[in-house]
Amino acid sequence: MTNNRDYYEIMGVPRNASDEQIKKAFRKLAFQYHPDHNKDAGAEDRFKEINEAYEVLSDTRKRASYDRYGRVATSDLFGFEDFSFGGLGDIFDAFFGATTTKAKRRAPQKGADLRANLTLSFEEAVFGADKQFETWRVENCSLCHGIGSQPGTNPQKCSNCNGSGEVRRIQQSLFGRFIHTTTCPHCHGEGTVITQPCRQCKGNGKEKVKRSLTATIPPGIDENHQIRLSGEGDAGRYGGSPGDIYITVSIKPHKSFVRKGIDILYELPINFAQAALGDDIEVPLLDGKTILKIPPGTQNGKVFHIKGKGVPRLNSRGRGDQLVLIRVITPQSMDSNQRRLFEELAKILPTAKMPKDEGHKVIEDTASKD
Ligand SMILES: [Zn+2]
Ligand SMILES: [Zn+2]
Repeated sequence: MTNNRDYYEIMGVPRNASDEQIKKAFRKLAFQYHPDHNKDAGAEDRFKEINEAYEVLSDTRKRASYDRYGRVATSDLFGFEDFSFGGLGDIFDAFFGATTTKAKRRAPQKGADLRANLTLSFEEAVFGADKQFETWRVENCSLCHGIGSQPGTNPQKCSNCNGSGEVRRIQQSLFGRFIHTTTCPHCHGEGTVITQPCRQCKGNGKEKVKRSLTATIPPGIDENHQIRLSGEGDAGRYGGSPGDIYITVSIKPHKSFVRKGIDILYELPINFAQAALGDDIEVPLLDGKTILKIPPGTQNGKVFHIKGKGVPRLNSRGRGDQLVLIRVITPQSMDSNQRRLFEELAKILPTAKMPKDEGHKVIEDTASKD
């Protein structure tokens, strides 16, 4: 670091300050200028400066050299410039006890959740179904029951951590010694090592198992809903519960119906005569059929509601409606007789006017009633 400011001045302590005074001054200043707390321009430089001063003044030998020559041999400051802020942060944290590195070990861990997608027919989504499907999951090995040792043998105490699953790393830093506790890399926190691995699972205690499950699809499910099969996911670790399976559904389209939330849309083509004179027309339903009365003077685009013949409300009572959208179809080809009759009509029909009622209302208005 290239500055010539006096270290005592930087620390705000007299030249004869005790080690305790220097330490106290450092705590105060380091906290004040730590880049995590102080975002002011220059705080970072100030923080480095404080660290540099402290590194010298807290070391009897370096301090003596500084007092005598007004500087410290470069070799005494080795590595200082190499400190990244992450490094300083660690030291800072350790110094002030803000965080300590703690090993996580052998706390029960829930198994992983799994996902599955089921393809349903239109009717299965509407009325519900029990769907069988196959899935793989991780289970405890059936031979060693998840221990990982060949049956008849036992895992041995880990010699690296003496069975504790943790190792302590002592870090020598500018401010003293800090102890970090980390997971033992030899036994990965287990505290034991397997000397004779189970032949079935090769020692990891787990195996992939294919299973056949049944998911109960509730009536009214749609593609944005999810079904959870509790406890059917991967096995947990250290006595943790298994994960879950989350099922999403894909619904096949229907050849005649379109789903609009809890309503079902059906398009009914009728001819000019039916529209003008009215008619009783058979209409298919999801579960059966019905006769729909078309009144005389029905307009193209009119929507009839057949109450309660739509999709059941998910996890609730009642059903939506079947919406019948009238499509008055203009003939695209006619024989001579039909043509003659239309020509007769053309002579006597008045000019068309927009209907007074709301019969031409578009489908979106009616379909989005919930
Ligand atoms: Zn095994
Ligand atoms: Zn170990």
